[in-house]
Amino acid sequence: MEAGSAETEQPLEMEVEEEEVAPIYKEPPKIKLLEESVVNRIAAGEVVQRPVSAVKELVENSLDADSTSISVVVKDGGLKLIQVSDDGHGIRYEDLPILCERHTTSKLSHFEDLQTIQSMGFRGEALASMTYVGHVTVTTIMKGQLHGYRATYRDGVMEQEPKPCAAVKGTQIMVENLFYNMIARRKTLQNSADDYPKIVDLLSRFAIHHINVSFSCRKHGAARADVHSVATSSRLDAIRSVYGVSVARNLIKIEAFDDESSSSVFKMEGFISNSNYIGKKITMVLFINNRLVECGALKRAVEIVYSATLPKASKPFIYMSIILPSEHVDVNVHPTKREVSLLHQEIIIEKIQSAVESRLRNSNECRTFQEQTVDASTSSFLATQKDSPKNPTPPSSQTPKSEKVPVHKMVRIDSLDPAGRLHAYLQATPSSQADKSSLASIRSAIRQRRNPRETADLTSVQELVNIIDSNYHSGLLDTIRNCTYIGMADEVFALIQHNTHLYLANVVNLSKELMYQQVLRRFAHFNAIQLSDPAPLADLLMLALKEEDLDAEGEENYDLKEKIAEMNIQLLKQKAEMLQEYFGIHIDTNGNLSRLPVILDQYTPDMDRVPEFVLCLGNDVDWDDEKICFQTIAAALGNFYAMHPPLLPNPSGEGLQFYKRRVSSNCHQAGRGSSKDADDAAVESEYDDELLADAENAWAHREWSIQHILFPSMRLFFKPLTSMASNGTFVRVASLEKLYKIFERC
Ligand code: ADP
Ligand code: MG
Repeated sequence: MEAGSAETEQPLEMEVEEEEVAPIYKEPPKIKLLEESVVNRIAAGEVVQRPVSAVKELVENSLDADSTSISVVVKDGGLKLIQVSDDGHGIRYEDLPILCERHTTSKLSHFEDLQTIQSMGFRGEALASMTYVGHVTVTTIMKGQLHGYRATYRDGVMEQEPKPCAAVKGTQIMVENLFYNMIARRKTLQNSADDYPKIVDLLSRFAIHHINVSFSCRKHGAARADVHSVATSSRLDAIRSVYGVSVARNLIKIEAFDDESSSSVFKMEGFISNSNYIGKKITMVLFINNRLVECGALKRAVEIVYSATLPKASKPFIYMSIILPSEHVDVNVHPTKREVSLLHQEIIIEKIQSAVESRLRNSNECRTFQEQTVDASTSSFLATQKDSPKNPTPPSSQTPKSEKVPVHKMVRIDSLDPAGRLHAYLQATPSSQADKSSLASIRSAIRQRRNPRETADLTSVQELVNIIDSNYHSGLLDTIRNCTYIGMADEVFALIQHNTHLYLANVVNLSKELMYQQVLRRFAHFNAIQLSDPAPLADLLMLALKEEDLDAEGEENYDLKEKIAEMNIQLLKQKAEMLQEYFGIHIDTNGNLSRLPVILDQYTPDMDRVPEFVLCLGNDVDWDDEKICFQTIAAALGNFYAMHPPLLPNPSGEGLQFYKRRVSSNCHQAGRGSSKDADDAAVESEYDDELLADAENAWAHREWSIQHILFPSMRLFFKPLTSMASNGTFVRVASLEKLYKIFERC
């Protein structure tokens, strides 16, 4: 059998070969006009993509018909039945025959009308499309008529003469067996979760915008409606009745507008959630010129503001209604009109973004106090913020270490110094104690918020802020707002791209200035970073002083340092109340530092720099003149919180030398020459692995912070100093166009 079949195949193969040698001439396929029904069905599939899109079209028609009450009934996720009833103006008897033909509409006559069109519909396609993919029945009665009419439609055509019937005012449109003739789509829809939740979501959105219309939505046969709103004059009431009290009570009103016709003209009104609202995902209900639309760019812009200012509430609820001159909106960019395109979109988004930002910043009345805790149980101080797991996770917090680091491993600079810099003060405290202290801090912060010292003090801060806001470099501002972060070029410079230019940006200078500006902007409104164990100022100051002159030893010198430390402690204790109220730096009555301010959300400074900071507060601050005092404290904080290279040398370069074990190298010497194998084994454990891991963590975390905190925050808040264009903070290194020319020649 097998041999036989092989034989019969042979000539066939030869034929194929022959064909390859001399290809037969093939005529191009003939082009013909598609039958109208095929065209319509293809188009229908696009307009009515799924049941929820049909519901949207029907509800929009009802709104266009000036209805005050719209109710929706759905069976089988909309596949079996969608029924939308309204009390609108109804449809004329004589229009019924062409009602469901493609491109029949009562809303548009000339293309130019599109510029000023107010209605949601204008394409005259929705009803027609539905008749190509489902069975449509329309019942309608106009005001003053004794009875209504009912007509059924298929493939754009009215099936019989409309039948007189009893009806209540308005129109009821029923779509049955959606996609009955599109097997693949129906199957896909049947297999996936049904559209009912999407329909409920859609109606909820309509209900909070069109508050003068009452909406209801329920499953066929269900007694209770899943959306039920009554006409009201209060938007907040509407939101409460649709989205619930938990949403409504955490909302703040927001407004923004621009009336400069030279740039953009718009007005935005809405509600946005505050820091108490914790959602699983962002809800953005957006209406532009009363059309329910989506705008990815605006949504992302708002999301960025939330994650930068309220990281714990970074999935907000947003309702916004934007009104623009209708000639600035192109409504005809999407078949289902889901998206629109706006003139001056970037400017509008930017204005809304800053309105959201300042609203969140100033909404103290409904903010609860947020606190970040420095937890000693992790080896890196930076890996302590456990909030918002959905945010990109800093690399170091992916590998938290629970075991305590031995004291000698905590040493950063001098391994013989038992104090081990600040780490020695950050032993884990029993949780009850920690709870108590954080509770106290929350209380005091709340008190502070209720009772801010709104005195003349603020004018001096306002003046400092004004200096920042009026003297920035607009070119650099544009670069920072629109640049792409590429990566760190070395320990200090980041490589960024703006348009076709590459720049090196000094992240230490930039972060220092950003922190300074933020301190002044958040003045007296800081959240707290809680040290798990208060650090005595005396020890901090001694550490810092020792570091200042490492070689000067001796009793006398030590006494002198103690004196300086003591003077500084007295001074800082005196200023403690002011430091606490205005800057969130808490020094308790025993002279311990227990809290630091949150200057950028999600960011904790390098705690190795605390001693230097405390000394700087004592030595460098001018306490006499109010304005200079605030300025110098802000500068000291700026320097402390700046994203300096970590004190541990970077292990990825020459810094690796630093992590060689000194003790084990002595052992090598003892055993030298005796056995080469033993030497090799010693080489393997030549490095202090734990310290090395710490260093790797610290460097990785810094880079993470630069990319995910510094640059996004700068985009939002930063006003670059004019001097930064010339002092080496920004250096233009290449123009991509020129590079391209060079590479082209290669
Ligand atoms: P469009 O809304 O783009 O005009 P549609 O196919 O959605 O196109 O509707 C066609 C026409 O049918 C509308 O222009 C309107 O005159 C009429 N119509 C549809 N639904 C209703 C309704 N619920 N009440 C009154 N008229 C309606
Ligand atoms: Mg329509």
